[in-house]
Amino acid sequence: AARNGDDGVRRYATAMGQVFLRRFQLVTQFRQALDAGQIEVHYQPKVALPHRKLVGAEALVRWSHPEYGRLSPDEFVPVVEATGLVDALTFFVLERALTKVREWMDRGLRMSAAVNLSVRNLADESFPDRVAEALQQANVPPELLTFELTESSVMADPDRSLPVLRRLRTMGVVLAVDDFGTGYSSLAYLRQLPVDEVKIDKSFVLGMGTDLGDMAVVRSIVELGHSLDLVVVAEGVEDDAARDQLVTMRCDIAQGYLISRPLSEDRFEAWLHARTER
Ligand code: C2E
Ligand code: CA
Ligand code: CA
Ligand code: CA
Repeated sequence: AARNGDDGVRRYATAMGQVFLRRFQLVTQFRQALDAGQIEVHYQPKVALPHRKLVGAEALVRWSHPEYGRLSPDEFVPVVEATGLVDALTFFVLERALTKVREWMDRGLRMSAAVNLSVRNLADESFPDRVAEALQQANVPPELLTFELTESSVMADPDRSLPVLRRLRTMGVVLAVDDFGTGYSSLAYLRQLPVDEVKIDKSFVLGMGTDLGDMAVVRSIVELGHSLDLVVVAEGVEDDAARDQLVTMRCDIAQGYLISRPLSEDRFEAWLHARTER
């Protein structure tokens, strides 16, 4: 029995070793992955309800790893976030997204891009100036850029993050609270945050069809958001039933597989083209 126990410990140690090894590899390889073109930005459309007018797209990062295949941002973003490299990630995605917005503008499409921020970006007092520079480089007006941030990333160090957010907002960039309803989100916090938009976490939107509790949460967030003069976005809209319910609740914007999955640059362009043809 003692021997089995040892085996178990050894297997556990080996498995943990592999997890750490992989994480270590991802950290050490990320910089070169950026330069080698393994990091891609995909786009998922956001549409206004009820008429489905296209208002923008969220930029979502992907890593095509030579050994591990297509990695989900849920695996590598937290690893990259734990290092100074998240700054390089954010600016990579930001610059790509702004280039897209400029291309869309040149074709007469007024669409914004939403970029996800990490807690490190919010703690960096030089961040707003560098964003201003990127906007200027790309020749994009600030109101066509949205930053999505979670409440917990703001509340990790509000003394640092709030001045950064206020400065971005003064510049005219649109700010959205992501994953609202999860973690420690509360009414009091939302009222104090200098934001324009609230994004209902997809877990509630996905559960709405089968769970009355989720439905009640979604309805309350829409009402709360509107009472604070915020634009309310629902993500994870997968079917017509969810969409119809959101329309009834007067939710402003929808994002989800019903409209489109996140698409590579090329496929997003094809999707846009097919849609504007009609
Ligand atoms: P998020 O910001 O909450 O992004 C929404 C996630 O929901 C995306 O997962 C998207 O593909 C997925 N999704 C969209 N519509 C639906 C739907 O109808 N049903 C379901 N089940 N899922 C849907 P993804 O692309 O895997 O991204 C995961 C997370 O990784 C993001 O969550 C975000 O927190 C983070 N992330 C992605 N790109 C970046 C980035 O450039 N920078 C940072 N810091 N984080 C990023
Ligand atoms: Ca997001
Ligand atoms: Ca979200
Ligand atoms: Ca998330």
